[in-house]
Amino acid sequence: NQASTLAAFTGDNTLADGVRVPLLANVGTGADAVKAAGAGAEGVGLLRTEFCFLDRDTEPTVEEQIAAYGAVFAAFPAKKVVVRTLDAGADKPLPFLTNADEPNPALGVRGYRTDLTSPGVLERQLEAIAAAEAAHEAEVWVMAPMISTAEEAARFADLCHAAGLKTPGVMVEVPSAALTAETVLGQVSFASLGTNDLTQYAMAADRQLGPLATLNDPWQPAVLRLIKLTADGAATASSASGQAKPVGVCGEAAADPALAVVLIGLGVATLSMSPRALAGVAAVLKTVTVDQARELAGIALAAPSAAAARAAVREHLPVLNDLG
Ligand code: PEP
Ligand code: MG
Repeated sequence: NQASTLAAFTGDNTLADGVRVPLLANVGTGADAVKAAGAGAEGVGLLRTEFCFLDRDTEPTVEEQIAAYGAVFAAFPAKKVVVRTLDAGADKPLPFLTNADEPNPALGVRGYRTDLTSPGVLERQLEAIAAAEAAHEAEVWVMAPMISTAEEAARFADLCHAAGLKTPGVMVEVPSAALTAETVLGQVSFASLGTNDLTQYAMAADRQLGPLATLNDPWQPAVLRLIKLTADGAATASSASGQAKPVGVCGEAAADPALAVVLIGLGVATLSMSPRALAGVAAVLKTVTVDQARELAGIALAAPSAAAARAAVREHLPVLNDLG
């Protein structure tokens, strides 16, 4: 039953064949990070830094930022923490960065793009992340939201290196970044798929509108193809060491146990989710081998609709019946 399956979660995240799949947590604050560590997360795959400052109408000082990020690093000593630079705009307005009067906020100056209108904020944030990293000896990776082009990725990587941050990455949540993944990944060390926005932009369906929920479904064939393009592009864009650039998923898709299997089969290396989803995803992943995950990814990709893909994959995962 669900209770015993969930209680069995120990943070040991492996597939049936022993392949490791780090399961990480999405957090917004130091308090969230403490809870995520208690829930068995192996690290943080998405620190939504804007959540630290939603109540602010002025830019937080570098010192305030060091304290906020340091509280998260302290909860995961020597573990990986992926910090996302401020993702202001659309569903997450920050008065000191975004203009409330934009006609199309989801297509506007949001995420990395706020650097166009508020120069300096990003550099100060990177300075604070680097200082917090030095204070905690954390394994910090840093990524920019809403990257659309390889030029943006290259400039972000330059800014990270200038701040002393060694592992710059990008979120792939705009279809243009997925379609050009090999070039984009050539500029940075890793990518994290933001399937919430990737789905919204692929389907041209506002993620906040309930009546569009059927379109806003990461099982949509178009979204699965964009995920595959990203993983394939990253595999080709090998690093200097010859290793493929790692691609994770930090959108809600990672918290759906059946879809988590498909994501691994598509070539995703790590999954980051709300801590309450960790146990269910781990319980399903440990029942499949990587070859079976690839087979299920093929079945999902071949399905004609989101509903058909979901049903076909679920049929092959009997463990889901135990999870309820
Ligand atoms: C996403 O877009 O999938 C994502 C993880 O970021 P957010 O939900 O914060 O936009
Ligand atoms: Mg997003």
